[in-house]
Amino acid sequence: MEWKLPAAVAEALRRLNDAGYAAYIVGGCVRDRAMGIPPHDWDICTAAAPDDMKKVFQGERTIETGVRHGTLTVVLGDEPLEITAFRRDGDYRDGRHPESVRFTSSIEEDLSRRDFTVNAMAYHPEEGIVDPFGGMDDLKRGIIRCVGAPEKRFGEDALRILRALRFSARLGFPIEENTARALVTMKNRLSLISRERIAAETEGILLGDHAADVLTQYGGVLSAALETEIPWSAVAPIVGGMPKKLPLRLAAALASLGTDGAEKVLRGLKVSRKLEEDTLTLVTWQDTVVTPDAMQYLLMRLGEENLRNLLDFSKVLGKLTEEAEKAASECLDKLLSENACHTLAQLAVHGDDVAALGAKGREIGEILQALLNRVTLGKLPNQKDALLREAARLMNEIKKTSKPQKHKTEGIEIL
Ligand code: ATP
Ligand code: MG
Repeated sequence: MEWKLPAAVAEALRRLNDAGYAAYIVGGCVRDRAMGIPPHDWDICTAAAPDDMKKVFQGERTIETGVRHGTLTVVLGDEPLEITAFRRDGDYRDGRHPESVRFTSSIEEDLSRRDFTVNAMAYHPEEGIVDPFGGMDDLKRGIIRCVGAPEKRFGEDALRILRALRFSARLGFPIEENTARALVTMKNRLSLISRERIAAETEGILLGDHAADVLTQYGGVLSAALETEIPWSAVAPIVGGMPKKLPLRLAAALASLGTDGAEKVLRGLKVSRKLEEDTLTLVTWQDTVVTPDAMQYLLMRLGEENLRNLLDFSKVLGKLTEEAEKAASECLDKLLSENACHTLAQLAVHGDDVAALGAKGREIGEILQALLNRVTLGKLPNQKDALLREAARLMNEIKKTSKPQKHKTEGIEIL
């Protein structure tokens, strides 16, 4: 069986071979290709050390991505290709990183350091598949199994614990018994892994087609990774039922922790500000039943993207029926197409109008916000006269009490 490889990949293998170096495609692309899934990137490995690779690809653009670890990126045509020297990892120092890496001329040795049998295969157009650990059998049976002794492999690098869960969630493969037992036993070693890596793997697990199965079975491992207890048996099917969008799946996983608990986990994971905010919005508003008459107000509070997410979220949580969600979506579409007021910029009065009534400093913003609340709640039309009248009334109240009340979070009874 010969696989059709992208021209740049075939070319890179040929050039390395012509210079006398063994070279293969390896890892995820072999796994995906063997399953009939189009690989999203093609990793090449070779007996050439980085300095030798530079000679082979002289005249091409190269990027020194990780020369210390044996990786050179070569741009052939428009394709950036990652080419890595066959490696053997030295002892692992901190539960994550090998003390040293040594280059080797043996593809088998390179494959033996890889995490799972299905990821430990290489392919060459003339040689076919190099598969010393039974990766093809495991792929056919659909099993995630460590290369070598699981305790040793998870002991070397605890990130592999979450990688096993991620591949299982993505491919729908159960984890082989010994590998499963070891990763559950060793889950506390995840404390050795950087928060960013934990976040990336957790996201991959949550977004998998088979996330619900993995969370049902291995939720305790993810709890150890997130350093938080979560009632996974109830939560797992809800996560799996969500559309495959990160804020929705994360919010489903963290909803039982409430806003403060979810915030603590997200901060701990150092996720982006936007992901944190989008996720927390869903956790905070999870019990809201979104009705058409509240829509304009919610659009103001949440923004379009988060409000659409909330509609999807509520539907999966069973708080909105299919029909109610459809009606709510249509109502939202209509508001947006009519350019219905939901931002301060759309309000028919602005700061200087309110300042002309004698408002100063913070009062100006508070009055404008109060007007926007009333407009989005349908209590006032977005017309200049009506808004100025209400602004003047609010100014009077401020003068009377001389101390304005604080803006309440519900945003309805402001001032
Ligand atoms: P994806 O489709 O998610 O990219 P992948 O299998 O390509 O899957 P990568 O993280 O890109 O995964 O890693 C490429 C290859 O490197 C893996 O297939 C595996 O052979 C090896 N590998 C990556 N991380 C580890 C690790 N922590 N321990 C051992 N081998 C690893
Ligand atoms: Mg990859």
